[in-house]
Amino acid sequence: MTGTEKDTTPTGELLRAVAIRKSFGGNEVLRGIDLTVRQGEVVCLIGASGSGKSTLLRCLDLLEVLDDGDIWLDGREITDPRVDVDEVRRSIGIVFQAYNLFPHLSVLRNITLGPIKARGTSGADARARAHALLERVGLSEKSGAYPDSLSGGQQQRVALARAIAMDPQVLLLDEITSALDPMLVGEVLDVIRGLRADGMTIVMATHEMTFAREVADRIVFMADGQIEESGPPEQIFTAPNSPRTAEFLARHL
Ligand code: ADP
Ligand code: MG
Repeated sequence: MTGTEKDTTPTGELLRAVAIRKSFGGNEVLRGIDLTVRQGEVVCLIGASGSGKSTLLRCLDLLEVLDDGDIWLDGREITDPRVDVDEVRRSIGIVFQAYNLFPHLSVLRNITLGPIKARGTSGADARARAHALLERVGLSEKSGAYPDSLSGGQQQRVALARAIAMDPQVLLLDEITSALDPMLVGEVLDVIRGLRADGMTIVMATHEMTFAREVADRIVFMADGQIEESGPPEQIFTAPNSPRTAEFLARHL
């Protein structure tokens, strides 16, 4: 078996969305999305504002109830009504554009809270891990600080550390650099590069096209609640099949 074939075997598949649909009122926001994400893959969702990227990520994290379709994580249907949603969500990390951290807790406690409360990790172990994660995101000296004393870029790095502290099987990132001062974007993207290098499976919505091209194993271009086109970055960015993809990229590169 070649390496290429091995990548597509079912054992490599971590997350699969099948024919998912979601409406808000009469507005059908996701119109039949099929998406498979392999273990260790970095998938970047791109597309115009309103195309459904955030809704898709929220559906994958079971923050929305689907109208139709199903989602599988590591071979288990997580949209099965008998599934414990809280238990599933503990194995999925999600970071949003802003307002991620608990403002009344120190950086350290923001990171240790989940492992202690939801995983039963001891305080000492959780703190040791949190310090290691803070070092990894370049914020060792900020463990006692409160979120409002940090820059936006620092807050997002803490939010990433907090998500990782739960040892998620997959990390969902929704435009986590969009609210940041351009000078602070790079430090957050560096953390994502590090997570990718460690083999984390990541699905991220982003407007950072240069970054997407660099880190993505696959680009998924969404338009009007559907996947218009998906493929390796080199193909999408240099030879898109769909005129809509080409038009979007012409405006955003
Ligand atoms: P994107 O992240 O690509 O900008 P969204 O998933 O946020 O797209 O939004 C897609 C569409 O769904 C938009 O028209 C938005 O107004 C609508 N939408 C998203 N969330 C809700 C909601 N909770 N209630 C009503 N409409 C929503
Ligand atoms: Mg969005």
